[in-house]
Amino acid sequence: MTQTKRNVPFFNYPFVFTSHEEDYVNIFKDVGRRGAFVLQKDLEEFEANLAEYSGSKYALGMSNATDALQLGVMAGGIKEGDEVIISSHTMVATASAIHYAGGKVVPVDAGRDLQIDPESIKKAITSKTKAICPTQLNGRVSDMAAIQKIADDHGLDIYEDAAQSLGAKFQGRGAGTFGIASCISFYPAKTLGSFGDAGAVLCQDEEVYEKLKLLRDHGRHPERGVINWAFNARLDNMQAAFLNYNLKIYPQTVERRREIAARYCKNLSDVSHLVLPPAPGSESERFDIFQNFEIQAQKRDQLKTYLADHGIGTLIQWNGQAIHHMKELGFTQELPQTDKLFDEIIMIPLNMSVTDEDVDYVSEVIRDFYKNN
Ligand SMILES: *Cc1c(COP(=O)(O)O)cnc(C)c1O
Repeated sequence: MTQTKRNVPFFNYPFVFTSHEEDYVNIFKDVGRRGAFVLQKDLEEFEANLAEYSGSKYALGMSNATDALQLGVMAGGIKEGDEVIISSHTMVATASAIHYAGGKVVPVDAGRDLQIDPESIKKAITSKTKAICPTQLNGRVSDMAAIQKIADDHGLDIYEDAAQSLGAKFQGRGAGTFGIASCISFYPAKTLGSFGDAGAVLCQDEEVYEKLKLLRDHGRHPERGVINWAFNARLDNMQAAFLNYNLKIYPQTVERRREIAARYCKNLSDVSHLVLPPAPGSESERFDIFQNFEIQAQKRDQLKTYLADHGIGTLIQWNGQAIHHMKELGFTQELPQTDKLFDEIIMIPLNMSVTDEDVDYVSEVIRDFYKNN
């Protein structure tokens, strides 16, 4: 070891606020003094900016991404008993959103790149399958060409859990624009973070958009009064104002995240005990935004302890529980390919408070571990 011990937390929550504290305080005062709290112009502006940035026809602010996906799936027409195929490597939120929209959740394997495995999708299709809902995991878009082909061949709809992938692209097209409806999350630790729970739904069809506006606001139509059963799933105007600010600087955020990822890739590419995500710029079809830097590591649990002993925070996504592991929720699938991935996956620190020195330190400690183990 040539470097001295330093602390690299997995995520630095105060930094979400302190990074631009003065500007945020000014936004708080401005919105507060205007009394603009619910469905006001900051929200409308944010929705217009978000639609433009993501390349989506429509964007609507929502209370969080889970609600956004549930209402998106409902607006898209999923009915009681319709089977919806998802990746087992996703948050329980993907499953619960579809479940409460009436769909039957069918988890399938993730592939080597940790995205939903198209071959595994094909095997899970039955006469009741209605849709595929890939999770655009870790700031990367799944193979949407293969998924679109399967959907076309079998007459299936597509939805996306794009909670982690605002700004990521596949063949030039943005995450969240492939589906009938897609969710984006602004949870504080997400790439576009807010100061609490917040999310959005993206959609491309005007009819779906009109349904979603009703679903998020008590079914209240501007002229006709209440016209359907609905929810309260609005994004707070205050959060929208902060998010508007964060979206303006988001291209720099993405650039920095890609820089950190590139540095990890350069530092660790020759460590044979690891599988790394593809380095930014290494694939012509993709633009990844690195919500996470999730690696596959031999002796994963020992590595995690070793890193902790050296002041480095890591996280095993979903606490190591894939969807098909949640037997209490009624899942009976056996997915050995995903089980194997879940023995090795671990995320190392990649966020806006991480410095180049941090990256070099984390990399060196990892190299050190494999030299001695
Ligand atoms: C964060 C996340 C969600 C949930 O987002 P919320 O805004 O917290 O509801 C859903 N799916 C994935 C893949 C996520 O990472």
